[in-house]
Amino acid sequence: MTDTGAGAVLVVGEVGADGAARPVSFEVLTAGRRVANALGGPLVALVMGVGVGEAARSLGAAGADRLLVADDARLAGLTTEAASAVLAHTIREVAPAVVLVPGTTAGRDYAPRVAARLGVGVAADCVDVAIEEGELVAVRPILGGRVQTAVRMPGSRPQMATIRPASFEAAEATGAGPEPEPIAVDLAPNDLRVTVRETTAKEAGPTNLEDAWAVVGGGRGLKEPDNFKLVEELAEVLDAAVGATRAVVDAGWRPHHEQIGQTGRTVAPRLYVAVGVSGAIQHNVGMQGSDYIVAINRDPDAPIFKIASFGIVGDLFEIVPALTAELRAARS
Ligand SMILES: Cc1cc2nc3c(=O)[nH]c(=O)nc-3n(C[C@H](O)[C@H](O)[C@H](O)COP(=O)(O)OP(=O)(O)OC[C@H]3O[C@@H](n4cnc5c(N)ncnc54)[C@H](O)[C@@H]3O)c2cc1C
Repeated sequence: MTDTGAGAVLVVGEVGADGAARPVSFEVLTAGRRVANALGGPLVALVMGVGVGEAARSLGAAGADRLLVADDARLAGLTTEAASAVLAHTIREVAPAVVLVPGTTAGRDYAPRVAARLGVGVAADCVDVAIEEGELVAVRPILGGRVQTAVRMPGSRPQMATIRPASFEAAEATGAGPEPEPIAVDLAPNDLRVTVRETTAKEAGPTNLEDAWAVVGGGRGLKEPDNFKLVEELAEVLDAAVGATRAVVDAGWRPHHEQIGQTGRTVAPRLYVAVGVSGAIQHNVGMQGSDYIVAINRDPDAPIFKIASFGIVGDLFEIVPALTAELRAARS
């Protein structure tokens, strides 16, 4: 493995449970291409896991100049510690100017660890990137999304950032890309303290909120946890994922991984249906990038209506079952 040059940009591709590169990987590729063009260096993609050759090739077809593949049985389930070790090793080998990592649950966990190992900073959860005077400018929302701030790390090498899902258009396949190059997987016992013994898939519906074409988000207007079945039924007929506000997660009605917003996940599906959600700024920052927002709320002054494409003012306990029944009938 040779040093790729001062202007190289390294992006990390994430692989889903189905073995394919996740959509966010192609978004990070778009961000990386912009930065690489500005620096005049190559765009290098790293993919880690087991049997990830095809996922890597799809990133090559979408524009990576070089593909590095860390394919090793010990990377099954890709734990944070193993991913950190492989990424840190790759950065030392490639010596990129900029490293961009998907701002997913996994990426947000290992990117700062790698930055700490290398003694550099990391701009987290960025929604835009640019190069000014040869340095990365990473834009990230602060104060619950009310303000955006530009982060610069002058002189730092590499300059690292995690990219918030749905912040860039996904890079599209343009033709056969480069051949994948294997990269050594040098793991110490400390990198393998955690092993994934089993992964259980959800019984139905999209397994990943960020990848779902539609999301139905439920809030405190549902009154009690059992009523979330209304949200689940609507999600099922739409082939959508289920999301939740922090209010209902804090109340223990729903698991934290479903929380959308400032302290939860960011989604930007084609369709977001907000059911009994008031539309607090801390929730909206996690879903306002959706193409269409449909809000169902009995309060005509609820803030959610300010960002909704379609608003239905009324009692969700009447509207949601009727909507689900109509959609089910239409689909059958
Ligand atoms: C630092 C910080 C971080 C936060 N992070 C997040 C975050 O990541 N995600 C998040 O979601 N929140 C977050 N919050 C909390 C946020 O401020 C709100 O409190 C929360 O989003 C409100 O959740 P909700 O809309 O479910 O509940 P509520 O605000 O109580 O709204 C319930 C809505 O349901 C409607 N309703 C009631 N009954 C019916 C009915 N029968 N039919 C139709 N509509 C009905 C009401 O009109 C109301 O608008 C954060 C807060 C802070 C301070």
